[in-house]
Order: sequence, then C-alpha cells, then structure tokens
Amino acid sequence: MKWTNRGHEFDEFSASIKDEFHRNIYIFGAGQIGENTGRCIRAFGILGGFIDNNKERQGQRLLGHTIMSLDKYISENSHIAIVIGVSKKYSLEIAKQLEKENLIHGRDFFFDDEFHNKILPVIATYFLNKTYMSLAQITLTERCSLKCKKCAHACYNVGNQTQDLDLSEVYKSADMFFSKVDYINEFVLIGGEPLLYKGLSKAIVYIGNKYRSQIGIFSITTNGTIAPDEETLKVCQKYQVLYRISNYAKALPRLHQSHMKLIKKLQEYGIEYKLYDEDGYWIDYGFDYLNKDMDEEELTQTFDRCLTPCREVRGNKLYFCVMARSVSDNLHFNEGQDDYLDLELLKSDNYKKVLLEFNLGYSEKGYLDMCHRCHGIDAVNYPIPIAEQLYGEDK
Ligand code: SF4
Ligand code: SF4
Repeated sequence: MKWTNRGHEFDEFSASIKDEFHRNIYIFGAGQIGENTGRCIRAFGILGGFIDNNKERQGQRLLGHTIMSLDKYISENSHIAIVIGVSKKYSLEIAKQLEKENLIHGRDFFFDDEFHNKILPVIATYFLNKTYMSLAQITLTERCSLKCKKCAHACYNVGNQTQDLDLSEVYKSADMFFSKVDYINEFVLIGGEPLLYKGLSKAIVYIGNKYRSQIGIFSITTNGTIAPDEETLKVCQKYQVLYRISNYAKALPRLHQSHMKLIKKLQEYGIEYKLYDEDGYWIDYGFDYLNKDMDEEELTQTFDRCLTPCREVRGNKLYFCVMARSVSDNLHFNEGQDDYLDLELLKSDNYKKVLLEFNLGYSEKGYLDMCHRCHGIDAVNYPIPIAEQLYGEDK
C-alpha cells in the first residue's frame, strides 16, 4: 500500500477494535501455540487467561493463569476477547464452537495468524504506546552448504569465499531493531546456512544477553547439514534457542545421517528443535527467470496481495521482504536498493505508528522494485520439487 496518511493509516481500524481487546485477552488453546501467543500478550500486560476443551488441562496453571472451560469463561466474563491459539487444522472447529455461542469473528475472536500479523501490532502501538512485530530475521551469511537450484534467497549463486555479515553489523542490527521494537514473537538467525557463520556463538550471546526478554521464540533456521560446536551448543542452551531444521532428506537421503547427528547433539544439551516433514514441495517465486514489465499499479497489486511476513533487519535498514533483498544482492540485480525503512531516522514522536505501518505493508512507493521479478502470492500455483541441487546430489 502506498502511504497516503503516514502515521495515521490505522486510526480508523484501531477505533474499530473493541476495548476488551486492549485490556484483557484470553487464548483458546493451552498447547504450545497458545502458550507462545500467551507469552506475547503477557509481555504487554493484557493476558487474561486460557481456555481449553481438554478436561485434563482444565484447572492446570499456565503462565500464571488457571486454564478453564469455555462455559466457565463465558459465565464469568461479560466482555469477550479471544484469540484462537491452536494449529490451523483445529482452528475452524473452534471458530464454529465460538459461533455457536453467538460470538463473532473479527469482533469477539480472532485467529492466531491475523492476531499476530495485525491485531496485536495495532493494539500495542495505539493503546499501549509500544511496538510489536511477529517475525524478523538477521541474515548472518549468504553462503550455504547446499546449492539448491530454486533457493528463494538465490544462495546458490554465492561463492564460498563471499564475505559474511560482519559481527559488528549483526550487533548493530540487533541494537537498532530492539531500540524500536518492544517485543517480537520470533527473531531468527538465518542464512544461507547460519551454522557456517564463524561468529554464531558471539551473535547468540550478544542478542541473548541484551534482548532475550523481548523475544518470544529465538531461533536458528538450518538445513541440518552441520552440527554446531560445543561453544554454540552451550550458548543455545543458555538462551533457549530453537533449531528449526528444514528437511530435504527426500531429495538428499544422506541428510538423514546429518540430521541424526545434529539432533543427538541438541538432545544432549536439552536444546529444543523442530525437524520438518520431508514430504511436500516448494513453491517457485520465479526470481531467476521473471522480469515482467509492470506499471506502478500492477506492482502495488502484486505487493498488496503478497504481504510476505519475512522482515529482515540489516544494520539500520529494515527490509520488508528478505527474499527481495537477498536475491537482488545474490543475483546482482541491483534493484530495490532503497526499498527499506531506515530505523535510524525513526525519531519523531509518531515513529511507532510509522514503523507499524511499514511492517503492515505501507511505504512511499507502495511496492518493492523486486516484485516485478516475483510471482508473489501466485507462487503457490508453481509447485517445484524440494531442494534439487544445482550440481546433482553429492556436490
Ligand atoms: S539449504 Fe536453504 S539457504 Fe541453502 S541453498 Fe538450499 S534453500 Fe538456499
Ligand atoms: S511479491 Fe515477491 S518480491 Fe514482492 S514482497 Fe512478495 S515475495 Fe517479496
């Protein structure tokens, strides 16, 4: 979206959110997703409690609250403000259950994704004078131990000798980011392959020490080819870093072994991890072959329909789309060099609203230059095999 009323784009929307949603929010679902959302809400002091259908959970304590049944919640609360904090698979069932109680989606309850991506950011800024973001990452290195043909960051085009992000820039990125953002649901260290980054343990210590209390999930996304050294394992344990392990074993069976090695190490140190399912497919954004001739209106439409959640902080620059930035750099397109928000320049009284708007898709142009090289949301119509290697399986 193009800024037309910078610093006031959400005035009307914020007025439409009923009071209860910035005072006392209940989470429906006391599992891992609900607990995680609960942490974000608790960080702003507006967590009311938890609701769960599971009788075994009812009566137990979570984040300082007693988990209750929906009936009990409704009988005790005249004002309703619920976030459905369960996996997508079950969220529609719960929505139906709430609708049977005459509760209305968008007024009385929200789904987890829409809550993190829009409702909580608006509530935090408009009613609590804070800033909240759902997801942001630092790209430590563009080098990778694999060379996937369709890497959405085009890391296949990055040589092994390429310079990584300097550690001082990693520190600066974190300092800039957390000087403007009060709380983030997930802060990720990514690559390329982040375990190739020489200063990884130092980066974790720096961020963990200074900002861990402002982060819900502190994670590393890895392709699972490399086991961390002891120092890195120790600091990951200390700062509760989650390993998200992409699973390309179907295309590269040798990865089964490296996954096992990595997981064994993580288990040894009590570090949490999530190994993704090896089935499925990737989607092709088309960065390596698209070069569409689009006018501003078409570009804005592409951008508005996409609204990727993948922010990246790099020094003082906040990029809306990490793929656009990294592909432009790695394929030397030199496009979209100015498509970022300068965090250093966010000094006015109204900066929190400007940051909120940028995070939710507003900018001077209303699109990114790189959008003309991308299928955007339509990439789902271009399924491709996972992790096909540029030079064959074992290079
Ligand atoms: S493992 Fe990930 S970062 Fe590395 S080349 Fe493949 S998709 Fe890109
Ligand atoms: S359309 Fe493509 S380049 Fe544009 S923001 Fe979405 S993913 Fe990024």
